[in-house]
Amino acid sequence: MQADLFIDNAFGPATDGRRFPTIDPATEETICDVARGSAVDIDRAVRAADLAMRGPWREVTPQERGRLLGVLADRIAADRNEIARLETLDVGKPLKDSLGDVDGVVATLRYNAGAADKLQGETVPLGTKVIDFTLLEPLGVTAHIVPWNFPLGMAMRSMAPALAAGCTCVLKPAEQSPLSALRMAEHVAAAGFPPGVINIVPGFGEDAGAALVAHPLVRGITFTGSVETGRKILAGAAAGIRPTVLELGGKNPMIVFPDADIGRAVDDATMASFENAGQVCSSSSRYLLHPRIRDEFLDRLRVKAAKLSIGPGIDNHDLGPIVSREQYDKVTGYILGGQADGGRLRCGGRRPPHLQKGYFIEPTIIDRVAAEAVVAREEIFGPVGIALDITDENAAIELANSLSYGLCAGVYTSDISRALMVAGRLEVGSVWINGWWLGGVQAPTGGIKHSGIGRERGMMGVRNYVQVKNIAVRL
Ligand code: ADP
Repeated sequence: MQADLFIDNAFGPATDGRRFPTIDPATEETICDVARGSAVDIDRAVRAADLAMRGPWREVTPQERGRLLGVLADRIAADRNEIARLETLDVGKPLKDSLGDVDGVVATLRYNAGAADKLQGETVPLGTKVIDFTLLEPLGVTAHIVPWNFPLGMAMRSMAPALAAGCTCVLKPAEQSPLSALRMAEHVAAAGFPPGVINIVPGFGEDAGAALVAHPLVRGITFTGSVETGRKILAGAAAGIRPTVLELGGKNPMIVFPDADIGRAVDDATMASFENAGQVCSSSSRYLLHPRIRDEFLDRLRVKAAKLSIGPGIDNHDLGPIVSREQYDKVTGYILGGQADGGRLRCGGRRPPHLQKGYFIEPTIIDRVAAEAVVAREEIFGPVGIALDITDENAAIELANSLSYGLCAGVYTSDISRALMVAGRLEVGSVWINGWWLGGVQAPTGGIKHSGIGRERGMMGVRNYVQVKNIAVRL
């Protein structure tokens, strides 16, 4: 297994030789020691990306860029089992989910492979004396800083469109989860990418991450992670006036009206609150329930949650562990705080008795808590759903919009007019009606307010990586 930096199509140690352990959260044991990139290594990687940008990569046609992305997709698909295994060891998620994530990576690469030769400018009518047209040019070297919940998925969500657009990339994986990206790197040269086009520097946020954001040769930054870190990245990007795409947290409401298909809403809540042990920015973490269906919804959800199996991801349980000790302590802190604030535990709330090692937490539902309570307002990032009451559409909209987050929401009702009226008034980047996670690689995703800036995926995602040059010719 490669656990070194990947720069200029070659693996190697950090310049200062430092390494850090990556931990299996199911066993709390070290999987391996990974090269820890510093500002010096970031500088090497960015310079390699800049040289590639000015040299060989610039000469590669859009169609050929698409072909290379397609070859990388094929190679990753062929290596699906090993990449998924490493992902599961590194972050704890069930193997079936890691396999699904790799399929998502392949789909993302294929979508963007197809987009590479479809980035067209326009002609602008200025009369008979001037011909005016636009070119869509790649931004240049782009920085990609990603979290640990979908390590390779998040990396490819932004790198694939950046590469399609003709940019070069430096990726800083999260310190909790560097292995799948390094495994992917083993395919880069074989797929035919010139040296320097894709570079990966594992390391920590405060040194490698901050150095990448501050590097003067970086022309665009894409970050997925917490609001707090997003704020720092935006401040760092401001110094260099760099375009920045941010996808940050969420506290996403699932609004269930009395005329909804409750069975469907419960099925969706089971998936959307507990998949990846709730460590998803777009998970459903607030149920806004009409009192007429509240008890039925929560009782049915509790029964379904109790049936979910918990254990090491490698054994393919429904829920794996939380990614790290730090996150485990944070999530359990929220659960205790919610109860101290008067919330009632409908289920879960503790470590499963049969698992004394690893960062496991049972699926948890808390109700009867005030909408102002911390647990009802802050992103928990664990398998925890919070139930709140609503009386009508206006109350639902007001409560949904009352937080600084604005990532996504779900509306459950059999009345399409009500669904679309509510959807139109929700302050979020995505609304799903009678479903959850209905998007795909083709549909834009992202947040408003503190949940982020910009959209990823789809053709909007590719356009993050081009700049418009206007050319005018006097005739
Ligand atoms: P988490 O997702 O664990 O809540 P973060 O949002 O801090 O935490 O982490 C997401 C990514 O941001 C990780 O790759 C992390 O190393 C990186 N990161 C953390 N702090 C900084 C920083 N100051 N500058 C750049 N990157 C950072």
